[in-house]
Amino acid sequence: ERRVPWILGTHLHPAVGPLERAPTDSRVLLIEAHDFARRKRYHHHKLTIVFAGMRQFRDTLRERGYEVEYIKAETFADGLATYFDRYPDDELVQMRSPSHRSAETFESLVEDAGGALDVVQNELFVGTRKAFDEWSNATDKDPFRHETFYRWMRQQTGVLMTDDGEPVGGEWNYDSENQDFPPESWDSPPVLEPEHDELTQQTSEWIAAEFDTWGSTTDLVWPVTRAQAKRKLDHFVANRLPSFGPYQDAMRSDDWAMAHALLGSSINLGLLHPWEAVTAIEQAYHERDEIPLNSAEGVVRQLIGWREFMRHVYRHEMPQLATANQLDAGTDLPAFYWTGNTNMSCLRQTIGAVRDRGYAHHIQRLMVLANFATLWGVQPAQLNEWFHATYVDAYHWVTTPNVVEMGQYGDGVFASKPYVSSANYIDKMSDYCSDCRYDKTKDTGNRACPFNALYWDFLDRNEDKLRSNHRMGLMYSHVDSKQESGAMTEIKDRVETLRQKQRHGEL
Ligand code: FAD
Ligand code: SF4
Repeated sequence: ERRVPWILGTHLHPAVGPLERAPTDSRVLLIEAHDFARRKRYHHHKLTIVFAGMRQFRDTLRERGYEVEYIKAETFADGLATYFDRYPDDELVQMRSPSHRSAETFESLVEDAGGALDVVQNELFVGTRKAFDEWSNATDKDPFRHETFYRWMRQQTGVLMTDDGEPVGGEWNYDSENQDFPPESWDSPPVLEPEHDELTQQTSEWIAAEFDTWGSTTDLVWPVTRAQAKRKLDHFVANRLPSFGPYQDAMRSDDWAMAHALLGSSINLGLLHPWEAVTAIEQAYHERDEIPLNSAEGVVRQLIGWREFMRHVYRHEMPQLATANQLDAGTDLPAFYWTGNTNMSCLRQTIGAVRDRGYAHHIQRLMVLANFATLWGVQPAQLNEWFHATYVDAYHWVTTPNVVEMGQYGDGVFASKPYVSSANYIDKMSDYCSDCRYDKTKDTGNRACPFNALYWDFLDRNEDKLRSNHRMGLMYSHVDSKQESGAMTEIKDRVETLRQKQRHGEL
């Protein structure tokens, strides 16, 4: 009986898990299952990086001497049936996918095909499930507070820690130094775009012909091989990292990438291990004076803090997190999320960027797309599905906590208040408002920015659930004065008008 590594499309790393431990001439299974791609309109680039990534990985493994069984099938069940027809005595071994109940699902599929499957630890994260569970059971702090988790991860890994066990620089978190808006003279650093070969090009064309996709079908800017992803990491650390820190939260028109890492899609596919990124960043920080601490710590916080935190939140809060909706938001996602057809400049530009590349950066996701949806009262699961379909780095384990909880305050497991704002925040952190049809300073009236009336209406509508939250106290004192002066009535009228406009595609 042979133990054969079964490599999923999001585990495309040659040096982790069962693959790393298998002899280099051993048999390896990849199943390219197509049915999921027919279930919804995914961004073309998202499907391309998964399928081309798998095909490239197949070829790399073959070059290294592995005997790769690459099965194209409609479903995993079909692929497994084909496999066990050929090799009835094999046992498959697979790294656990972070998706909810994935191990059980794959185990029963393999069993139905008459085979055996061993699901083992996923080594594409920095930490393990076991370490988190032991710590979270033992700690007297709330393990589902990000800052608590992050400090524990820093201590465990020693990243950006002094020999005395203190955080480098004296503070754990330089978030307050991640919120500048760049001067007009600032040019964002160059973006490295990989050159794609014939195989990727053919895969891209096949996807466009085979599936009903969304977004651009050309100009793929994302890596599909490990070599491309490693170059992208090196390029980020060499050129983009210094300005990541100060401008992490800023948004500019015609500047889709700012100084972000652009590594999420590669890390989530397994082309890069997050630890490779963390060590490269830490080393560069120690070696190069031009990298400020707010840059190095800022990315490390995302990688060993937020990314790992989301994985644990997801596995502890599922399945209820997927449908969590503590604010009882029941409105449908406006059609303009798909068409980009809106007069609101911030949303139009952000959605346009997502159509072009399957990407927008964190603050565009949080404070434009999710903020608007929360204010509008969109059902969280609908926004989650939209993100899942449209982003190159989107998988349910990472979208669900980011969208349902962080973006829409669906559950309350770790968010202590909703991330909502009026035009004020968007104007402070972007240049969108200056060429918008709407007036950022007005709450009511024909040209008033929709975010403003919606913001006050949101607070008023959710008063029962939010007023007692001490972090919202100041905002409710403004709500009180708007209620007393009668301004709230005009605001409510304005919201009704906005909803009508939206129904007519005129928002
Ligand atoms: P940078 O901002 O440069 O950050 C560096 C890396 O840190 C990222 O590549 C990523 O691996 C990691 N990271 C940063 N923040 C997070 C986070 N909150 N959760 C998990 N990892 C993080 N991230 C996804 O990977 N997939 C998603 O589908 C996704 N959907 C999101 C939806 C919403 C509403 C919000 C608010 C955030 C979402 N995020 C998601 C988190 C984050 O916005 C992206 O990881 C990041 O924008 C990816 O771009 P980048 O590589 O340029 O990252
Ligand atoms: Fe967005 Fe309002 Fe600013 Fe227009 S004015 S860009 S809608 S925040």
